[in-house]
Amino acid sequence: MTIKKIGVIGAGTMGHGIALVSAQSGLQVVMYDIKDEFVTNGLKKIEKFLDKSIEKGKMTVEEKKTVFGRIKGTIKLEDLKDVDLVVEAIVEEVKIKKDVFKTLDKLCKKETIFASNTSTIPITDLASATSRPDRFIGMHFMNPVPLMKLVEVICGLRTSKETAAIIKDLATTMGKTPVEVNDGPGFVSNRVLFAMINEAIFCVQDGTGTVESIDSVMKLGMNHPMGPLELADLIGLDVSLNIMSVLYDGFNDSKYRPCPLLKKMVQAGYLGRKTGKGFYEYNK
Ligand code: NAD
Repeated sequence: MTIKKIGVIGAGTMGHGIALVSAQSGLQVVMYDIKDEFVTNGLKKIEKFLDKSIEKGKMTVEEKKTVFGRIKGTIKLEDLKDVDLVVEAIVEEVKIKKDVFKTLDKLCKKETIFASNTSTIPITDLASATSRPDRFIGMHFMNPVPLMKLVEVICGLRTSKETAAIIKDLATTMGKTPVEVNDGPGFVSNRVLFAMINEAIFCVQDGTGTVESIDSVMKLGMNHPMGPLELADLIGLDVSLNIMSVLYDGFNDSKYRPCPLLKKMVQAGYLGRKTGKGFYEYNK
């Protein structure tokens, strides 16, 4: 099966990026969100990115028109009824995601593949809301989507080999590098990343290092482009706490217990860059 038309659910941070890279790779795209203003915002961000590409000499005005012309914004879910693939990128809430997939399951062709961009929700669980668990998969893009190479392709317990092969081919066509992993709390990316971030926060709490020294060790010694605390501020400490809680609940293993300092900072409203204060201070 060749994917020619894709439906993207959600026009936010990830959704508009996924719509953009899909259109750039030649797919027809239908980008859905619940309100007109969200769709318009997503389309504006896509246009801004394309305009910058023209400024940088990476794209001609004609090419921009062609790419942008492939994207249709909508608030009508029925507009996705003939797509070959749906990539869902809405709020990280199990019930809301399952409800959307239940509706799509009735609406879309039976061959249509469903993918979720979830960071933490088990793919096997989301797939159980549909009648097509063999054609259900995780397609975990990284932020910012146009720049990051990885797509973590997550196979649920019932995902077929054929579905995985189609999705890996598509990610490659999008200019990404797919890496296939199996379903499990946090998959590979967030399980490994957040174990490190949480440990760095324990180091602050225990006084083993200062925020600056911990980040410096990881940047200079391990060649990480950002320190773990700087990265936690960028991701958001509330999102980080949520991911640690998913790992802790998913494994029932104390090694994933969220650091009490992380909890305290979230309670205080120090959420990182978005609130102007996390482990570092930011000018608003
Ligand atoms: P976001 O808040 O920027 O965008 C979510 C969009 O979904 C919003 O525009 C919202 O209106 C829309 N939405 C909400 N409910 C909806 C519904 N019922 N139907 C359709 N649209 C609905 O969120 P985001 O950061 O783009 O995250 C989306 C998904 O991607 C989440 O599952 C998140 O875990 C995952 N993810 C996020 C990142 C990241 O760095 N932001 C990275 C990887 C994966």
